[in-house]
Amino acid sequence: MRLLSLSILLLAAPGVEVVAYTLDQVEAQFSSYLKLAENGRLSTRGQLPLGCTLACDFLDFALPSQISYPNSTIYSLEESGYWSQQQALTEPTCRFSPKSALDVSFAVLALQVAQCAFAVKSGGHAAFEGASNIQGGMTIDLANLNEITVRSDRTQTAVGAGNIWYDVYTTLQPMGLTVIGGRVSAIGVGGLTLGGGISFFSGRYGWACDNVNNYEVVLADGSIRETAAAINDAFYYLGVNAPSDPYAQVITAYAYAQSVDTYIIASDLQYGKPVANPPILQNFTAVQGAIASTLRIVDQANLTIEFNNTNPGGFRQTYWTLMVGNNADLMADMVAIYMEEIEPLKTVAGIVPSLVFQPITTDMISHFSKNGGNALGLDDQGPLNLVQIDISWSDIADDNRILTAAQKILDGCQAAASAVGLLNKYVYQNYASAGQDVFSGYGQENLARLKAVSAKYDPAQVFQKLQPGYFKLN
Ligand SMILES: Cc1cc2nc3c(=O)[nH]c(=O)nc-3n(C[C@H](O)[C@H](O)[C@H](O)COP(=O)(O)OP(=O)(O)OC[C@H]3O[C@@H](n4cnc5c(N)ncnc54)[C@H](O)[C@@H]3O)c2cc1C
Repeated sequence: MRLLSLSILLLAAPGVEVVAYTLDQVEAQFSSYLKLAENGRLSTRGQLPLGCTLACDFLDFALPSQISYPNSTIYSLEESGYWSQQQALTEPTCRFSPKSALDVSFAVLALQVAQCAFAVKSGGHAAFEGASNIQGGMTIDLANLNEITVRSDRTQTAVGAGNIWYDVYTTLQPMGLTVIGGRVSAIGVGGLTLGGGISFFSGRYGWACDNVNNYEVVLADGSIRETAAAINDAFYYLGVNAPSDPYAQVITAYAYAQSVDTYIIASDLQYGKPVANPPILQNFTAVQGAIASTLRIVDQANLTIEFNNTNPGGFRQTYWTLMVGNNADLMADMVAIYMEEIEPLKTVAGIVPSLVFQPITTDMISHFSKNGGNALGLDDQGPLNLVQIDISWSDIADDNRILTAAQKILDGCQAAASAVGLLNKYVYQNYASAGQDVFSGYGQENLARLKAVSAKYDPAQVFQKLQPGYFKLN
């Protein structure tokens, strides 16, 4: 019996992006702080109500011990960390040294509330004035984001954006490991990697930026993102790279887990040979943050049992589908649409709503023309992304709400795909809902052929009329 290697990774994706702080929350804290400051119960160092002095004082109040002011030891030490004199002679009102992405999220919002201009410093090797230091503003110094953690399988390392390469190399060297980074010890991980990153090994492995598996990113709205974008990218590249290794297949599902009130991403990784962690799947296995994995070698029959267990019977069910081009940004847009519609349904009894993606590779499509060719009309060369909206729930009373939401998710996803020219007319019959027009997607020629076959072998149209269920040619 043929053996399969299977891994299911479940990645916690609360809100897909982790909303760390919101502007409203930080504004509210800022107002409270202003009231205290105006009443004189807090000593403020400067003029109210806006600007960098206030932003510095507010952060000093909200996140104690992370702000340093001129003439303090920490401020002077951090100012000495610039390579060029132009940058070292630049004096911000204060320097902020976050200890976590959450701190960065808070600061990014506080800076907006107080309208304070800021700079960000990693290794401080940008040469010109203002690149990573700011006169009179606030400089976010990443020095305390200095994690260096090698994953247990030794294939990747989590590196904080405030590290310099010397610290990275000297941590990894005793383990017989290295990464693709800078050639000068004091260059920062942040600047070098974001700009490109030519290393001693670039001839063989590319630039540093090509070797980053994923970034944890704080956006201007304070949200912290990582996991979902990395998974979507991995999915996209599987579609692109599939011709180099047709043994791999993937199903990636975004789902809401009601019991823990969180969204998760589950990637079912299958490989048609008993090989642990094959290279073509490593974009998935490299993504950090997995909360569960069932990676193992398993036979086909047992694998189908595992898959069956994730699709229990006895509930109310609905399936809807569309086909789109292979594109990671579009995946993110569709996930956002799905989440918006699921949000008001989170308390529906027994709800398990999923948005499921499967790569339809060029290899798969190439087989469609074998044995005389099939009638599906899927003539796009791909790679494509087969999208499935799959919701189960418990109570018949919720049917209308659920079906309305599913229709809205479908409409929204179709509109998003259409807007970027990536909507494919094909509708996969086996995942379609009863009202979807499956056969139009097969194309006029195929539909005419199917109707001709039906007329020839079923002249009274028994199967089209007397058996009304399922999809009909007319
Ligand atoms: C002596 C010297 C040797 C060099 N050697 C190499 C080399 O071998 N290979 C190579 O490719 N390049 C090299 N460079 C160029 C170097 O990669 C760039 O100057 C790089 O921008 C420096 O990164 P940094 O983090 O040290 O600088 P910084 O001044 O701290 O950062 C540079 C820019 O990136 C931004 N930034 C940094 N981290 C973040 C972050 N986490 N989030 C958002 N923005 C961030 C900063 O705001 C700033 O605008 C060298 C430069 C010098 C001066």
